[in-house]
Amino acid sequence: MVQATRDYYEILGVDKNATQDEIKKAFRRLARKYHPDLNPGDKVAEQKFKEVNEAYEVLSDPKKRAEYDQFGSSPFEGGPGFSGFRTYDFSDVFDFGFGDIFSNILGRKTRHEVSKGRDLVISLDLSLEEAFSGVTKTITFNKERVCKVCNGSGAESFETCNVCKGTGGIKTSKGFFKMSQLCQACAGTGRKIRKACPSCGGRGRMVQTETVKAKIPAGVDTGSRVRLRGLGGEGEGGGPPGDLHIEITVRPHRLFKRKGDDLYLDLPVTFGEASLGAKVDVPTIDGVAVMTLPPGTQGGQRFKLSGKGMPSPKTGLRGNQYINVKVVVPKNITNKAKEAIKEIESLYRENPREGLVRR
Ligand SMILES: [Zn+2]
Ligand SMILES: [Zn+2]
Repeated sequence: MVQATRDYYEILGVDKNATQDEIKKAFRRLARKYHPDLNPGDKVAEQKFKEVNEAYEVLSDPKKRAEYDQFGSSPFEGGPGFSGFRTYDFSDVFDFGFGDIFSNILGRKTRHEVSKGRDLVISLDLSLEEAFSGVTKTITFNKERVCKVCNGSGAESFETCNVCKGTGGIKTSKGFFKMSQLCQACAGTGRKIRKACPSCGGRGRMVQTETVKAKIPAGVDTGSRVRLRGLGGEGEGGGPPGDLHIEITVRPHRLFKRKGDDLYLDLPVTFGEASLGAKVDVPTIDGVAVMTLPPGTQGGQRFKLSGKGMPSPKTGLRGNQYINVKVVVPKNITNKAKEAIKEIESLYRENPREGLVRR
């Protein structure tokens, strides 16, 4: 199936930063518009309806959406486990949208707190090479989510609240006035837990291990954070989920030191190479460069390999690699070498300590 990558945001007519609520609303509107029951025999509408479904299937699922944002739609097209077309419960499509803020418990509408889920931070160690090229990592982490067995109620079974007799309110009378207050025993729900949900132990939430693929862009450094939208903790009462932040640590490298986008390397050279000049193989983060040392190179002298540093995560442009020359003299030498060195010393025309000591 060769097909241009479809933009699911465009199909739903929403912004890339659209909230789950906006996506749901856009889906409902378009699904109503193109629903086959309302457009019998209309092939264009049928195709649109399928596209809208496919886009919603991905964008309504925070995990699929995050992967789509990173990798595009290809993993979702005809891949394993993806039908391409899913039949929705259209009571949802034709429900003009309460339900997010109000949930109906025993026929009464009770207000729930709506809050965004918690942001999660996990740390990830990378090698300098991985930070250089960018990498896709499979990340496993734990997050809290609403218990699916009890839908967050914490109960396997309920019983009628014995304080308010299931009404959720308590009538009191002061003199002539009759008043009604919320039942404290059941928080106005009219019911109490008879038996706690065995899956979550009555907490209504449970820890679940999640695995996601995260694309780490080239050029990240220690302290960089990569955000995966919507993969944090689940929201309460229909609130949006939090985000997952991946905090990067780049491990120290055997050869290179890093400052920002620049890399630094100590390059040992011999006395002969430094004085006569030489072509020297130099490691870089992505291969080997040949560097020409000019004759008379001094220890501590610094050279620059332009564009051989790390890429900037913002611009993609690479920094530089700086090379710090270290002249290394042999520790163990033969008598013949000693004689040769003495001869060289006798041939020097410059005194390197000229003017240093005055007598
Ligand atoms: Zn439960
Ligand atoms: Zn009660």
